[in-house]
Amino acid sequence: MRIATILFCSFLSTSTFGQMNQSEVKKYYNEGVQHFTDGNFKAANGSFRKALATNDVLPVNLSYYFAETLYHIKQFTNSKNFVDRYIKVAGQGGDFYDEAVNLQSQLKIEFINIRNCNYCNNFGYRLEDCDYCDATGIETTECPQCKGTGNTLCPKCTGKGVVITVDAFNQNHYETCDKCDGDGVIVCERCLGEKEITRVCTYCLGTKMRPTSIICNHEEEQEELFRKKKIYRQ
Ligand SMILES: [Zn+2]
Ligand SMILES: [Zn+2]
Ligand SMILES: [Zn+2]
Ligand SMILES: [Zn+2]
Repeated sequence: MRIATILFCSFLSTSTFGQMNQSEVKKYYNEGVQHFTDGNFKAANGSFRKALATNDVLPVNLSYYFAETLYHIKQFTNSKNFVDRYIKVAGQGGDFYDEAVNLQSQLKIEFINIRNCNYCNNFGYRLEDCDYCDATGIETTECPQCKGTGNTLCPKCTGKGVVITVDAFNQNHYETCDKCDGDGVIVCERCLGEKEITRVCTYCLGTKMRPTSIICNHEEEQEELFRKKKIYRQ
């Protein structure tokens, strides 16, 4: 009796939700295809993403439409993932097989352009000088060992400057600490007295550049324009 009830409930819930999601997927998919046909790729991107977010079974052609959309908004790496998936799933009999193969070769050209360009990262985003490290690739921070003093407590005399020994007659003998010459401190072993340490810039990982959200056109001219804009902004 108990099992029967549970089975019935789970059957009811999956079928109800399944139908609901399916119509949702269809709605976003059709909406996306409409935007795509109108050449509004930004809106198409939004609709296809909503369809993907339902986590439901997706129409095969969505992969192609989405890949082509991503190409137009210059998200080439994502575009490649989806076009590759489309060809794998739909095969040569797919509705958009020829278009998909064509898209693959267009993407290949884009990736070559990105690889050959010095002004963008691997995803095609324009790079600018890292302002965290002033484009040096290294950052300097206060030595954590000595807190920027350059010295640490002498481990032999624990900062007293003298070493106390007790002889056989229970008499104390005071001797100047030979490790610190009586100073009680020694030069910091971490920074060697420099008070600061240098390490690879945590923002640009030593590359001296960091990506902007600007899609690169692989031309030098824009770089100058970009710098001027940056100066203007400051
Ligand atoms: Zn000492
Ligand atoms: Zn130090
Ligand atoms: Zn940096
Ligand atoms: Zn570039």
